[in-house]
Parts: sequence; C-alpha cells; structure tokens
Amino acid sequence: MSGWLKVVGLGPGPDRWVTPEGRDALEAASDLVGYGPYLARLSPRPDQRVHASDNREELARATHALALCAEGARVAVVSGGDPGVFAMAAAVFEAVDRDPARLLALDVSVLPGVTAMLAAAARLGAPLGNDFCAINLSDNLKPWGVIAQRLESAARADFAIALYNPASRARVTQIHDAFAVLRRCIPGERLVVFAQSIGRADEQITVTSLAEAKPGLADMRTLVLICASNTRRIDRPEHPPWLYASRRL
Ligand code: SAH
Repeated sequence: MSGWLKVVGLGPGPDRWVTPEGRDALEAASDLVGYGPYLARLSPRPDQRVHASDNREELARATHALALCAEGARVAVVSGGDPGVFAMAAAVFEAVDRDPARLLALDVSVLPGVTAMLAAAARLGAPLGNDFCAINLSDNLKPWGVIAQRLESAARADFAIALYNPASRARVTQIHDAFAVLRRCIPGERLVVFAQSIGRADEQITVTSLAEAKPGLADMRTLVLICASNTRRIDRPEHPPWLYASRRL
C-alpha cells in the first residue's frame, strides 16, 4: 500500500488563495483530516472520508492522520493559512517524533500556503517590507510570561510585529495585556492595524495608532499588526491608507 500524508494550507479564506498544489492534494486525497470549521470550507466528494475534530486536539488529530496513512490512505491534513504557521504541521512532526521507529518511513510532506499576515500585508501595501516577526498570543501551550518577554524584545528591536490568535471566546485578556507591554516600549503615534477576516465577505481593516487602538476590536478572526518605526502612510480616499515599510533602516 502506498499511503501518503500531506499537510495542506487552505489560505486565510477564499478558494483562490489555495495553491494549485494544495488543491491537487485535496482532490487526490482519500481522507480529509482537520479542525471542523476548516473542513467545512471544502466540498468533499462522496468517496472521500472526512474526519473532523475539535480545536485543541491537534496531537490526537495528527496521530490519527498518521495511522490512516500507515494503513495506506492518502491523507490531507488541513490547516487555515500556511500549515507551518501556528498550525498542524508542527503537531504532525511532534507525533512522528513520539514514534519514529514506526512513523518515520511514512511519506509525509508539507505544502505551503498563504499565511494570514501576508494576506493582510498585501491589502495594506507593504507594511512587512522590512524586518518583521510573528508572535502567537495564545497562552494555551506557553506561559504568558514568555509571550510578554518576546513582545517586549520584538518591540525594542523595532520589528514590525504580526500578532496571531489575539483573542478567542475563552481568551479575552491577553490582547489587553499585550497592548500594555507594547505601550511601555513603543511611542503612541506608531501605526497599528486590525485586519479582520481578510479575504472573506466580512473583511474589515482598521488603521489606527498605538495610543488610540482599542485592543477589544481584536477577535479570533483578526490579525493585529504593529508597524515598525520606519513605516510610512499614504492616505487615499474611500480606502484604507497604503502603509509601507521603508526599505531603509
Ligand atoms: N496557520 C494560520 C494561522 C493559524 S492561527 C495562518 O498561517 O494564517 C489563527 C489566527 O490566524 C487567527 O486568530 C488570526 O489571528 C489569524 N487569521 C487566520 N485567518 C485570518 C484572516 N482571514 N484574517 C485575519 N486573520 C486571520
């Protein structure tokens, strides 16, 4: 039996942001594995088996997907955005790492996708045109102290900072705490963006300053972008301004 497992990124929302390689894998798969809302974005054929699971069950999901692959299934494990960015690819390798004697021989690969910060940046112009970093604000798997320390280091280093997972139904305080850290390190006039549901029908972009930003605007569909000091703003009528990071500095 020649099973395979491909970890596929579905992009931030619209079908056109799924790569042709990702689409081919989804079509060739016998089994589709993932978090329910991501699988709901697909139109599986009747001959494809769909295995939906809950959030926070990444390792169990990955282990199950590898077991299907070992039985000879062609498995697509789906993630939103890019599967390597705060998503399923790391869980798949964690599962392989737990049982390499059995799982290392499997045909596993990761197909890149469009991650949310790149989709949001494209809407705005080029705010990530110079050095930047990404920080996951979820403290489900790492202590808040580590996150606060990384935020402070990134702010002091003057990176543009993309904040993923700023809030969820269960996590509402972190984004407020994050802004408190940032406001200690960065001047209030710094550009801040709330990029919500990028690429989807309810897309919304709010460009503001660190001093005026309302952290409560961020929800689980929002990518928060803290621009670097060399980011310029070009206002235009009836659209969000263009933002671009100068290529200098
Ligand atoms: N693997 C995904 C990220 C998963 S973490 C990727 O590469 O994009 C989930 C977080 O991604 C969300 O809380 C939000 O911060 C961000 N995100 C995902 N889709 C988004 C979209 N369409 N618009 C804005 N942010 C999005």
